[in-house]
Amino acid sequence: MPQQPGRGFIWIAIAIIGFAALSAFIGPRQQVPEVIAISEVATLVQEGQVKEVVVTNDTELAITKQDDTKLRSTLRTGDDLKDFGITPDKTSIKVEYSTSSAAWASILGNLLVPIIILAVIFAMFRSSQNQNQRAMGFGQARAKLANFSKIRFADVAGQREAKQELMEEVDFLRDPAKFRALGAEIPKGVLLVGPPGTGKTLLAKAVAGEAGVPFFTISASEFVEMFVGVGASRVRDLFAKAKKASPCIIFIDELDAIGRQRGAGLGGGHDEREQTLNQILVEMDGFETDGGVIVMAATNRPDVLDPALLRPGRFDRRVVVDLPTRDERIEVLQVYTKGKPLAKDVDLAGVANQTAGMSPADLKNIMNEAAIFAARKGEKQITQATLHEAAEKVLVGPERPSRVLSDQEKKVTAVHEAGHAIVGHVLPHTDDVHKVSIISRGNALGLTWSLPKEDRHLIGKAKFEDELCMLLGGRLAEMAVFDEATTGASNDLERVTKLARRMVTEYGMSDTLGLRTYGEREHEIFLGRSMGESRDYSEDRAQVIDSEVDQIVKRAETRTKELLTMYRPALDKLTDLLLERETVTGEELTRILEETTGIIKEPVTV
Ligand code: ZN
Repeated sequence: MPQQPGRGFIWIAIAIIGFAALSAFIGPRQQVPEVIAISEVATLVQEGQVKEVVVTNDTELAITKQDDTKLRSTLRTGDDLKDFGITPDKTSIKVEYSTSSAAWASILGNLLVPIIILAVIFAMFRSSQNQNQRAMGFGQARAKLANFSKIRFADVAGQREAKQELMEEVDFLRDPAKFRALGAEIPKGVLLVGPPGTGKTLLAKAVAGEAGVPFFTISASEFVEMFVGVGASRVRDLFAKAKKASPCIIFIDELDAIGRQRGAGLGGGHDEREQTLNQILVEMDGFETDGGVIVMAATNRPDVLDPALLRPGRFDRRVVVDLPTRDERIEVLQVYTKGKPLAKDVDLAGVANQTAGMSPADLKNIMNEAAIFAARKGEKQITQATLHEAAEKVLVGPERPSRVLSDQEKKVTAVHEAGHAIVGHVLPHTDDVHKVSIISRGNALGLTWSLPKEDRHLIGKAKFEDELCMLLGGRLAEMAVFDEATTGASNDLERVTKLARRMVTEYGMSDTLGLRTYGEREHEIFLGRSMGESRDYSEDRAQVIDSEVDQIVKRAETRTKELLTMYRPALDKLTDLLLERETVTGEELTRILEETTGIIKEPVTV
């Protein structure tokens, strides 16, 4: 939970500043005169050096010398100035009985320290009292009332379907009476389901904004505190506040933080979560739709939610907030270009093509990176080249030209990437190669970057098989040229293994094993990660799975080797070009293939 800076510190700071100001005020006037013995004063007076002596309170002497330096001295009570030969004919003597302003200042100065100490003690007392109050107020919801959000549907790029579905809630919140008159029941709970960064919170705010109702928002993780029972009382408090403000929206972010299946956690300490969850269920059942309160919640893991949450009358309405499609990505990019001067050559559609599978948050990040790049280059506008650079950085990590490769390493990397690129480019079902590079990025030494022409939702077996070949292309090219294996292919091989295994166990793409899945992936409830799978097949089948996976990989290997032999001239030419220029585009790759083999493939249009 975010800690407010302690009040005590503020008080102490005020006290210190006050002290500094006061001493600055007093300081110059006092000038701290030197204190001398009364006998010395007598000598000075005899010598005629003293202009004036002011006597205050019978005993305090303020002496002003002829040169205007000030001195102080004290008379013992009962003594007389005359006893020391200080007489009006030698110097001017003034006697003041009232306390002077200087005396006031000195009194104030003396009082200041105790006053500060008192202030500090008071402040500490106050702040500890506040902490006590805070501890007592733990049960109160930390919901922020974002008074009437200003966000409208128009501010949310893309998400046409989600907006359409949510329009119903907006209508209800605008005029609940109209629906009630017809006996219509409006769902109380709306679950926004989608990957992170897709703008679920923004959508919920837009619903509130469109309907013009208050918007209570809380993150589910804030319900759970260290004290047992706090979460549940926070839920009670939140719903009570919301009912008073109805019609309104309660938005619970990260619902899966508390909404996971009950009784399934590892270890203890889950009573709190369960109590909180139960309280949410109780509250949702308790309020009538008349109340005009709609609970919206966001999650990216609907599969781990407790089924009780999804029962009718609770979160029975699901709105999918998906990753944007190509057209929606253009829209999103347009939103984030606001306030950023774009060069004439900028083609947002091209960027959208490049960014399949990216969330609006990623796209925002790209636009921002592009602006930063442009500023660093000292450009006045964002050019298409800068945008591409930014997209690449967000997609695959920044270039690391500082990582120096030896000539041999460079050669191996070039051959490896050329292998991926050639195989990827000539196979019919793989995505077109957009760019090949041997500049280090992130952890990778080189990169072959292919782009899908459109967003895919169904993938055929042939595409998987081609993809396996492309992944193997790197290592097998190294073997063909150098006849030596390197560590550079470990990530490729891992992906090959996973993909082949999924073809067999998840997608039913093996004739021997038939149309079924193998292994139930368990969602580990507590950590929210799938930690393994429970085996729902026999030991014999496990062996068959392994041999099927092996066969798929073997077939891909044979095919790739054949391709690499067939296109060896192109492989060598691409390798040379990579060594010379470090980066080769898809068009150039097409040209190389044309020149060496006469094969023509549609040029890459990005
Ligand atoms: Zn590779």
